[in-house]
Amino acid sequence: MTIIKTNTKADLGGQVKTWRKQGLKIGLVPTMGALHAGHLSLVTEILKHAQRVVVSIFVNPAQFSPAEDFDSYPREEDKDCAKLVRAGAHLVYLPDVSEIFGDQAEAEIQAGPLGDPLCGRFRPGHFDGVATVVTNLLHQCQPDVAIFGEKDFQQLRVIETLAVDLSTPVEILGGPIIREDDGLAMSSRNAYLSADQRVIAATLSKTMQGLIARANAGEDLGNLENDGRDALLLAGFDAVDYLEFCQADDLSHSQKISAKTRLFAAGHIGKTRLIDNMPLN
Ligand code: AMP
Repeated sequence: MTIIKTNTKADLGGQVKTWRKQGLKIGLVPTMGALHAGHLSLVTEILKHAQRVVVSIFVNPAQFSPAEDFDSYPREEDKDCAKLVRAGAHLVYLPDVSEIFGDQAEAEIQAGPLGDPLCGRFRPGHFDGVATVVTNLLHQCQPDVAIFGEKDFQQLRVIETLAVDLSTPVEILGGPIIREDDGLAMSSRNAYLSADQRVIAATLSKTMQGLIARANAGEDLGNLENDGRDALLLAGFDAVDYLEFCQADDLSHSQKISAKTRLFAAGHIGKTRLIDNMPLN
């Protein structure tokens, strides 16, 4: 098996057109590369919905603030391509910044209210950057279906909503979070962690599971959020951006649990920022 590699939207569009003439359904998996089993699970899932799978690898400068890790973000193009061949993807799209944004980059898509809470409070403009690049990728690829991980649950909700609001002819799917054996959600950023930090990182999902069990047993959600923050700091997290029970649809803060309640968390260990989320049931 081989994989088609393209760097330009013209080549991508040409290949997609050829496949479409053959009656094939096209799936898109947007990524920033440094691929792990979480990304590859999205390829496996979308292959159930499409006969040709495009994976984009683009480290999007518009979703990093100047103090964040854009320059040091891991870039592993050759390894990524080999993994994608094994996963059964058909085309990898590796555009440079000008191919996505053009030379001017003046227009922008706003994520709207779903981009404001949780990560939006700590990463101003992040979800506008995500919304702009994903809209662009959807226009350039014109897939029938695109998939995003629940690992970035807020991002998934932003994209589901923008696809509907902008009448984009694409079906948006969500894929479950893939975890390491000790529960840590897989992330390209986990590579930044030292062995000691890696042990601390594993306490995030375990702490969240404990809080969820207590929430389901009827404890007050506000108290649990405070306990959870304290527990993470005690375990070695340097900062907790948020640990909140929110409604999965509009991401509003949950006062009481319901079928839609999810627990969301983000924290820092050294220079590494980790996020996670889980349903209550
Ligand atoms: P990224 O390369 O981090 O931008 O992620 C690309 C896509 O993979 C996004 O839709 C992520 O939500 C998804 N993803 C990242 N990590 C995981 C994971 N551990 N499990 C499932 N999907 C993931």
